[in-house]
Amino acid sequence: MRANIIKTYGPWRAVMLPQEIGCPSLTDNEVLIEVHAVTANRTRDTLIAEGKPHHPEALPLITGQDPAGIVVEVGTNVDRFKKGDRVVVSGRMACGQCDLCAAKRAGDCPNAKSIGINRWGGYAEFCAAPEKTLFLIPDNISFYEAAVIMRHCPTALQLLDDKAELKPNEWVLIMGAGGGLGGPGIQLAKLMGANVIAAAGADERVELGLKLGADFGINYRTHDLSEEVKRITENRGVDVVYENISDPTTWPKAIASLAYAGRLVTAGAHGGPEVTLNARNLYLNRWQIKGAAGGSPHNVKRALEYARTGKITCAIDRVMPLEALHEAYDMIENGDVQGKIIIDPSA
Ligand SMILES: [Zn+2]
Repeated sequence: MRANIIKTYGPWRAVMLPQEIGCPSLTDNEVLIEVHAVTANRTRDTLIAEGKPHHPEALPLITGQDPAGIVVEVGTNVDRFKKGDRVVVSGRMACGQCDLCAAKRAGDCPNAKSIGINRWGGYAEFCAAPEKTLFLIPDNISFYEAAVIMRHCPTALQLLDDKAELKPNEWVLIMGAGGGLGGPGIQLAKLMGANVIAAAGADERVELGLKLGADFGINYRTHDLSEEVKRITENRGVDVVYENISDPTTWPKAIASLAYAGRLVTAGAHGGPEVTLNARNLYLNRWQIKGAAGGSPHNVKRALEYARTGKITCAIDRVMPLEALHEAYDMIENGDVQGKIIIDPSA
């Protein structure tokens, strides 16, 4: 099969290349998928190619975290899926055995493995995945949409619901409103009944946040973020800040936008990761900071149901073939995209 394969660590452009490789063989609990969509994630994939920060277990490695496609073969113990099913893979595999998994906190499992890091992922014509990582795609959702929903919506739900415990009528500030995590954050916060302020570093991204349903928008490059938040909330501040950038120039203003006893939740550090924190403000204001990454099965099911019923939409910039992965990364780096780029290895 054709796949984008890393055979040695090094500069991503030199070591992550389309090549021929044997199709993965199945164990009894796995399913073989003909891949029709996987999202291009420049930061994650190029760090893996360079051997940091998460070392894969073995090379060669095929990255690509959230493949969606058609089941073409099932292992002998698989009973929930059959040939022809349309499925999407949840890229995070909790261990199912630790104390946190037992406490129904699979999203926090410290032993979780990742598709595309600890085993071969979806930048390939075929991908073998454990049955427990698969979810059926609703009939009215395309493979492209399913991959994008899987990439960001379970994480957004985990941050807003499980970690921030956002309540109806509370105020939430969504940072990076035009980004991959920002868009779902806005839509899901509105579904949860919150008042939403969308903040981004460019007017067109603020506009996008407003189109997705945000009640107010702030350009934090041209305005003082915390002052604007205070003006909008009549000096109260927001109950929740949804961070996902870790930009040292915006992070202090974001946390300063919190109301007394507010919560900052975060996943994502493409603008950092180092930021400064005024610890005195933290304890005097009774603020909380919580981090989380990925989602858990209950959040995946919720996200797919919201998509099926049209309550959330996802932004797709374009679909490109496997051979165009480098071109896709360059476009992402240059900021030339409005939404996710989908790689379709069947194209
Ligand atoms: Zn676990």
